Amino acid sequence: MPSQQERPEMHNVYLGWNDYEIKVGPEAYRRIIEIVQAEAVCRKCGQRYSEEAPNVAGLLCLHCFLAEDRKGLTYQGLLTPDLGEQPTRRLYTPYDSKAYFFLDGQGHVYTTKGGPGEKEDVTQNENATLKYWHFPRPVQAAMSNGQTVDASHWHWTIHGTPRTDDVVMIQHGSSWRKDEILFIVKRHGQAIQISRRKPMHRALLAEARAELEGMRRGNMYLIDGEEQYSIYESDVYRLVARKVGEILQEATSNTEAPDEHSADEESEEANEEAHSAAASR
Ligand SMILES: [Zn+2]
Repeated sequence: MPSQQERPEMHNVYLGWNDYEIKVGPEAYRRIIEIVQAEAVCRKCGQRYSEEAPNVAGLLCLHCFLAEDRKGLTYQGLLTPDLGEQPTRRLYTPYDSKAYFFLDGQGHVYTTKGGPGEKEDVTQNENATLKYWHFPRPVQAAMSNGQTVDASHWHWTIHGTPRTDDVVMIQHGSSWRKDEILFIVKRHGQAIQISRRKPMHRALLAEARAELEGMRRGNMYLIDGEEQYSIYESDVYRLVARKVGEILQEATSNTEAPDEHSADEESEEANEEAHSAAASR
């Protein structure tokens, strides 16, 4: 009997069902993979995958994937390496799956992976959203104990509309867990960390909350055209981002018209911090 090391290379193939296992040699295995890659069909419509109908998620083609309720997502194509991590080949999988991305109405990025064993659903990817819309991602953040930490690999939640707003608030952690970190980020611009210990920042948050309190109609609040029972933190953060956007806009037009001396305190502080804030490109 030859030992295990001397046995020729073998691969498992399952035909019809997963108990019907067959062993084949490397050449046959290579040919089977070729056939499968060229001939695989969508599990729903039975059509072969094609350029217009690629295998975007699990065993679904693009058409069948979008036929389900995807909340207005629009297809953007393959996820490019600059936007996000490519799927890594798992041990023993014969070929790589591909990642694709979609945008929702507000511009948030969602990714999918096509191929056996991948889920037939999207994953929201806010870091890719920031990259796609040219918002900086902070590389460092100051913690409440005064320490500066590496934030380059953090995942962020975006408050605002990345498609249309030039300034949005991004959040890592949460206030109830007391590990919340907030940044104001400007498209093609800087990242400014928001600190509740800074009177100016506290005032900005309080002012936004007060403004939202003023939107009470009976027992409801009418916020951004939506009726809701309470004010959420994300409402406050969105409004702060909008206000900072207006301040920066004003500061920009003031720079363009140097005769008008009206740069207010808030924009000066924002600019000062923008210069010192460490941000990725
Ligand atoms: Zn299909």
